[in-house]
Amino acid sequence: MSYFFVPLANDVRRQSRPHARHDLLRGHARFTVTLRTIEAVHIGSGGRFLRGADIVREGARVVGRPGIPGSSLKGVLRSRLEAISKSCCVFTLRRQRLEGACVSRSFGGYEVEFDGRLRGEPVFGACEPDHCCLACSLFGLTTRQGRVRVQDHVADQGSSFKITSMPQLYAPRPHHLGDFDKDRAHCRLTVTRLFGRKFYRDGAQSDPEGPCHLVEAIPTKTVLRGDIMVLSPVDAELGALLAALGQNPKSALRLGSAKGHGFGQVDVEHVEVELRSGPTRSAATPEQMNDWRKAFVDSPDYWIDGEEALTAAQTAGHVTPL
Ligand SMILES: [Zn+2]
Repeated sequence: MSYFFVPLANDVRRQSRPHARHDLLRGHARFTVTLRTIEAVHIGSGGRFLRGADIVREGARVVGRPGIPGSSLKGVLRSRLEAISKSCCVFTLRRQRLEGACVSRSFGGYEVEFDGRLRGEPVFGACEPDHCCLACSLFGLTTRQGRVRVQDHVADQGSSFKITSMPQLYAPRPHHLGDFDKDRAHCRLTVTRLFGRKFYRDGAQSDPEGPCHLVEAIPTKTVLRGDIMVLSPVDAELGALLAALGQNPKSALRLGSAKGHGFGQVDVEHVEVELRSGPTRSAATPEQMNDWRKAFVDSPDYWIDGEEALTAAQTAGHVTPL
């Protein structure tokens, strides 16, 4: 199976986080990030063009070069941070389309829906600006902007896309996300328990039988760079971000389309952190970063089962050459 589930925490740690303010004077941290693609990555720009008679889906560009839009990277970091902390599931909920019923692709004539009681569980409850989980405090809620700003990451000069074939992608199959009841009388599947948060594992391969389309993909071994800024962070939050970035503990990110089909694996090769407080700037030392790690692991927001499941399945071991 190309995906796995990270177990949900039993509880969400919602609390007031008085340091979480948008105040540059309270200091901020700038992460300078170097990414290297392990698999080809396709993040669509929405555009298409013709190559001969073939339609090619255009890849996202930053300053005219292959790039990873900040919004894509931010989404991945938020999902990972949610999974390793006692955070809510609102972002994941939106991504996994847990609201409303949809047509089943596996059971002809059936609709799939999520049991209303699932949405009543703590992880699906709403955070408030003054009473929120770690992920909402850093990445924002609908009513308050987050403190993490992720810039677009751009490929080094001389990098270019490769046009490659990508398997056709289908809508998700919601009944694969948990246990479900089958109501034959009403042709309805109801998911009653979720297995957890869904992520893609290493080494997932495409189905060569399925239909394909052409895409512009960032080739393997491409280096991309960009910055991430965090306003008013505390040590545990910096440790949580280093874990979400796959730095400590080490793991690989998955970005863009066809993550279950041999695309999207990216290694965060290097992260430098500069701390700024008023006019003072200093580069974080390895010892400081270890202290941040310790602060996160010791914090009540840390969810060890989630982190262990995520890092066990998303190592940077598998390579698909392009
Ligand atoms: Zn939240």
